[in-house]
Amino acid sequence: MLRRIITSLLALSPFMHLQAADQVLRVPNTAENRMILEQLELEHDCYGKSPEYLDFLYDKRAKNLLEQRNTFRNILLRNSKVYVEDVDALNRSLVTRDDLGKYHTLEETEASIKEYADKYPDLTILKSAGNTHENRNVWVLEISNKKTGGDKSSFLIMGSHHAREWISTEVPLALMKHLLDNYGKIDAVTKVLDESRIVIVPMVNPDGSAHSRTKQRMWRKNRRPVASSIGVDNNRNYAFKWGTTGASPNPSSDTYRGPEPMSEIENQIVVNLQKEYDFDTAVSFHSYSELVLWPWGYTGKIKSKDHQVFEKHGKAMGQILGYKPMQISGLYEASGGFDDMLYADFGVLTYTIELGKWFVPQENEIDPICEKSIQAMMYLFENAKNPLPVNQDPAYVTKGILQNVVRDLVIDDNQSRLDISLSSLSLLPDSAIQLAMDGLEMETRLRDQIFDYINRHRSFHRMQN
Ligand SMILES: [Zn+2]
Repeated sequence: MLRRIITSLLALSPFMHLQAADQVLRVPNTAENRMILEQLELEHDCYGKSPEYLDFLYDKRAKNLLEQRNTFRNILLRNSKVYVEDVDALNRSLVTRDDLGKYHTLEETEASIKEYADKYPDLTILKSAGNTHENRNVWVLEISNKKTGGDKSSFLIMGSHHAREWISTEVPLALMKHLLDNYGKIDAVTKVLDESRIVIVPMVNPDGSAHSRTKQRMWRKNRRPVASSIGVDNNRNYAFKWGTTGASPNPSSDTYRGPEPMSEIENQIVVNLQKEYDFDTAVSFHSYSELVLWPWGYTGKIKSKDHQVFEKHGKAMGQILGYKPMQISGLYEASGGFDDMLYADFGVLTYTIELGKWFVPQENEIDPICEKSIQAMMYLFENAKNPLPVNQDPAYVTKGILQNVVRDLVIDDNQSRLDISLSSLSLLPDSAIQLAMDGLEMETRLRDQIFDYINRHRSFHRMQN
């Protein structure tokens, strides 16, 4: 993939900053580097990432900011590499035709969904889930054998929360074709559509997607004007822990969280779909970085109570894709994301898959990425039909209460809810609480803090009795 990029991983020369082209730099993913980037409001969390490195846009603004802060500049650039020499030139070289070549334009995306809905009326229901700010439909295609009833598992497959991540629409479209063209031909596909409901939203942010495809390739957000700027980052606007970490309050930022939680129609559409279909499992495709990710994103201080399930299926998909599986916060903390909300508020097993090595991979890479992603989704359809069944095991229940304590404690936003959780914990023996903390791999300082709270609750109760 992108030999152009790979061969350009050269050490940064001291004169590099004199170049005019916008570059993408790759720096070690350290707390120090993240702090510098955050202080300068240089966004790193919307480019490539791994536990080892972070990419950020090294444009004129970044160069000026770093010129003024020599210490920061020296620290940040001392181990940096150039990941992309010239962002514009790279983007221009990827798709040379006006019809976007193998990539789908907005019109082609819509036409393709309609064509497949028309072609397979017994297997599909097509609807618009709502209209965006620029009055575009958000198309939703439900795929299932309508003749089979029963309590079907529901899966949500999404693309293009972020406009410039074109490949993230190609994968859901390819999956749609695979499922519909192979029903009755491939046993595994037939079984999936007989027993499950697959709901595909190839492009949840069509306004941003249109803008990226026709006007500004690197556009990320939606297109709703807010304050003096345009656009909200749809993957920072979900309600759960909104605005607490790794999301910008600044409307001009690429990771702008929006004026309030769930302010954006695209986000409301997703929650409405969840309420309608009661999804068991969900996948949101993004690009780039070759990662399979799962909650939590808002904190790295605990794993989720369902971490083992997330890890099991995450690793299996990672193996199929050749991608690295991990909890989101292993990269950095970010709040208001799709995964955290669907999992925390609705109990959905939710993954984000970061496809490929650039937002828009070369055209000849589209098919291999789609084929592997289809395999990974088939794995998930067959193995994650009811992945998080009701579990009354006391140890698991305790982990759930602790998970809620952390939710309300890490960024203290709901004292009464916290009090209820703490009083139920205060009735348990310390050993049971400790065991649950071990299960969540809770950070030591947080354990001490929670035991302080619990002990205060206990002495308060003793005083009252
Ligand atoms: Zn994204």
